[in-house]
Amino acid sequence: MENNEDLIAYSDEEEHETKKKPENADQFKNTGGGYSTLHATGFKDFLLKAELLRAISEAGFEHPSEVQISGIPRTIEGKDVLCQAKSGMGKTAVFVLSLLQLLDSKNPEPLSGLVLCHTKELAHQINREIHRLGKYLTAIKSECIVGGDSIDDQSKMLKNNAPHIIVGTPGRILDLARKNHLDLSHIKFFILDECDKILEQIDMRKDIQQIFVKTPQDKQVLMFSATFSKETKKTARKFMQNQEEIFIDDETKLTLHGLQQYYVNIREEEKSKKLIDILDALLFNQVIIFVRTVPRAIHLNKILVECNFPSIAIHSQLSTDERRKNYTAFKDFQKRIMVSTDVFARGVDFERVNIVINYDMPENRGDGSDETDTYLHRVGRAGRFGTKGLAITFVATEEEKATLKKIQDRFVVSIPELPDEIDTDQYMNQA
Ligand code: AMP
Repeated sequence: MENNEDLIAYSDEEEHETKKKPENADQFKNTGGGYSTLHATGFKDFLLKAELLRAISEAGFEHPSEVQISGIPRTIEGKDVLCQAKSGMGKTAVFVLSLLQLLDSKNPEPLSGLVLCHTKELAHQINREIHRLGKYLTAIKSECIVGGDSIDDQSKMLKNNAPHIIVGTPGRILDLARKNHLDLSHIKFFILDECDKILEQIDMRKDIQQIFVKTPQDKQVLMFSATFSKETKKTARKFMQNQEEIFIDDETKLTLHGLQQYYVNIREEEKSKKLIDILDALLFNQVIIFVRTVPRAIHLNKILVECNFPSIAIHSQLSTDERRKNYTAFKDFQKRIMVSTDVFARGVDFERVNIVINYDMPENRGDGSDETDTYLHRVGRAGRFGTKGLAITFVATEEEKATLKKIQDRFVVSIPELPDEIDTDQYMNQA
């Protein structure tokens, strides 16, 4: 690789986790039930609408996952639910199916369901899941309302053809509500996805609080996340009444089944060459490469493109249009490699990704963020829904070695050094 310049460590940028390490989930109910119990329950046992069962079957969901088995019966009973479950194990379907089950199939009330999350892409993904699973509930309409899109168009749509469900990002939802373009007084279902991320960012938390007080007191509140700090749990509980708390697996089991994890000891200046060797050597469907900063994402992507890799970069400094274009190109498999900052470390589901590379180790920036949480979310992009995957982490400094140890200690997992050869069966799903 000729163009093997160093990626200079640039100064900081805004895209990083603002999380604290979760404490033991002692206050959660452990509902038990491992993978072995899954097949005993079918989606039919939830007594869902026939239209939903049909869409579930078309989506190829054969058996409900653990979080679905624990979550769906409680949410469709109308209970407030706080739910922590591993990334990629079907949390989205818990609230999407419940929402679609609980809304009236024939005469749903406009603006009765509100789903909030922290990124536009995740909002679009959730909205697509609502469309997919609600395909046969033709009276129920759902729209995505996020920042970056025209607020005038959104106001017009709300005025002329208000949907029954809105999936949005907090800033834009609040803006529309404040300007009286969005009436939140009929909300019956208030749902936060990746709620730790939302509640731990002060700005987003404030927005959520202001949105929340505009909704009626009598509503169902559902909150989901892969990780919860003790403090976030406390904050989340303030939004709920007599909530059921679901905790799937304890902290140490948060790493993903089917995911092979390795590290590579490497000097900073050798990283890009090693990355290219790895990409040449491994078979992959799609790969996400995580870096620390926007300039590093841009620069590394440039190197990969110059080496003829089908790579694309995604980060917060792209315009909304560019970001959507790049996201779609990756989602639609036109590009096979995505270089990303932590903006895409969590929530977003790219089903073909089977390799995640931490080109830069997740960092603790001394602002309350926890690098082990970021690691978990990043590697969770591979091995979604129990499929096989591979995570490779570059370790360049003593500090990063310590982080690797912290990750292994926290999740009680052994991350060995990357061997010279890896059997493709370990990380490729057979057709
Ligand atoms: P999530 O954790 O919600 O991001 O879901 C991860 C992936 O699993 C998505 O592609 C879902 O469509 C898929 N999924 C969710 N539930 C099931 C299920 N019961 N069976 C198979 N795939 C599922």
